[in-house]
Amino acid sequence: MKTSAAESSAQKLERPVLVQKYGGSSVANSDLIKNVARRVAARYREGNAVVVVVSAMGKTTDGLIQLSREITSQPERREMDMLLHAGEIISTALLAMAVAELGVPSVSFTGQQAGMRTDSSHTQARILSVEGHRILGELARGKVVVIAGFQGVTEDLQITTLGRGGSDTSAVAVAVGVGARECEILTDVDGVYTADPRIVEKPCKMQWCSYDEMLELAILGAKVLHSRSVEIARRFDVPILVATSFRDVPGTIICSPEKAKKEFGIMEAVSIRGIAHQKNVAKISLVGVPDQPGVAAKIFSTIGQQDINIHMIVQAEHRGGRNDLSFLVAGDMMGRVTGILDGLVQLVGGECAVVDENVATVSLVGEGVQREPGIAARMFTSLAREGINIDLISTSNLMVTCVIPKDRCEDGVRALHA
Ligand code: ADP
Ligand code: ASP
Ligand code: MG
Repeated sequence: MKTSAAESSAQKLERPVLVQKYGGSSVANSDLIKNVARRVAARYREGNAVVVVVSAMGKTTDGLIQLSREITSQPERREMDMLLHAGEIISTALLAMAVAELGVPSVSFTGQQAGMRTDSSHTQARILSVEGHRILGELARGKVVVIAGFQGVTEDLQITTLGRGGSDTSAVAVAVGVGARECEILTDVDGVYTADPRIVEKPCKMQWCSYDEMLELAILGAKVLHSRSVEIARRFDVPILVATSFRDVPGTIICSPEKAKKEFGIMEAVSIRGIAHQKNVAKISLVGVPDQPGVAAKIFSTIGQQDINIHMIVQAEHRGGRNDLSFLVAGDMMGRVTGILDGLVQLVGGECAVVDENVATVSLVGEGVQREPGIAARMFTSLAREGINIDLISTSNLMVTCVIPKDRCEDGVRALHA
C-alpha cells in the first residue's frame, strides 16, 4: 500500500484526525446505529476531525452469501463483490443520517468515493492506495466522514471487496491515508484477550500486544482483527486500539515494543501471548505424488494461479519414490480448491487427493516459543491429557500450530489456555 500526499494535508487540518471503525455487531440495528452516532458526535464535539469506517449491519454479509447460494453454487467473483459491497453501503448511509440527526454535519462515502484503490483480485482484493484528499476535503469542511469498509475500486472502476472481516483493513488503510496517529477498532469485545472469550471462560485482557504477535494471532484465527489490518499498521507504525462500542473501558493497544516501553514501561516480552484457533479450514492431502524435483513447484504454482492461499504445507517421508503432501486451506477457498484437485493429481502423476473438512487448528503464540525450550512439549502434553490426537504440527519463531479434529477444537483451546 502506498500513502498519498494526505499526511501533509492532515497536518493542515486544525483538529487532530481520529479514525474509528465499528464492526457489524456494533451497528446491527437502528438503536445500535444511534449508539454509534452518539459516540461519534461526542468525539467530534471534543474537537476531533472524525472519520468512521463501518461494516455491514449484523449478519448482513452472511445473509447475502446465503442468497447467492440459493441462486448458484459457482458465482462469478466479480458479481459476489457487487453483491457483498452493498451491505456496507446500507450501514454507512444510515450512520451518516444518524450522526446528522444529532446536529453534526456528516457525509457518507462508498469505498470508491473515499479513494480506496485496490488490485483486481475479486473477493480478496488488496489495497494499493488510499487517495485521502476527498476525505480530508470533507473533514476540512467540518464534516464527519462515514466510509463503507471492506470495499474498494480497481483502476478500471470494478468494485472489489477485501475478504471476510476486511473492514478492519479498510480502517487502518484510511488511518494511514489521512495521516491519523492511531486507528480505533470498536467491536463487541473490550480488547484483545489471551484466547477467544467465547470459548475460554476467563481469559486475560492484554494491555498491549506487539504488531508481530498480533499479526501471528490474527493469521492463526483470532478474528478480533483482520490480519492484513495489522500488517498495514505494522508497516506504517500506526497503533491500533481495540475496544468496545458498548461501554467506556480501556481496550488493548497494538503497537511497537518501543511505544509499549514508553507508555507502559514494559520492556520484557511475555513468553506466551495467547492462543488462537481456526475451525473454518480443510486439510487437503495429495497422496502418492512422485518424489522428484519440480513436483511441489508445479502443484503450488497451479494453486497460486487460482489465488488460493495455503496455510501449512507438510510433506511426509517418502516411500517407494512417492510422497504424501498435505496442506491447509481456508474454508472460504474450498469451492475453488475442489475444482482443481483432480487436475492437480493428473498434472503431477499422483495417486489421489483426499479432502478432510473435519479439522481445526489450535496455536500458541509468543516470543517464548523460540526462547524457552519445552514450550512445544508442554503444548503437546496438554492436548494429550485431553485425549486430543495431533494430526499435523508446524512451528516458527513465534508460534506452534497443531491440526486436531474439529470437534475437539474448543477443548483444545481451553486445555492450552489453562
Ligand atoms: P466485528 O463485527 O466488530 O468486526 P468480529 O466478530 O469480527 O467483530 O470480532 C470480534 C470477535 O472476535 C469477538 O466477539 C470474539 O469472539 C472474537 N475473538 C477471537 N479471538 C479473540 C481474542 N483473542 N480476543 C478478543 N476477541 C477474540
Ligand atoms: N461485512 C464484512 C464481513 O462480514 C466485512 C467486515 O465486517 O469486516 O466479513
Ligand atoms: Mg471483524
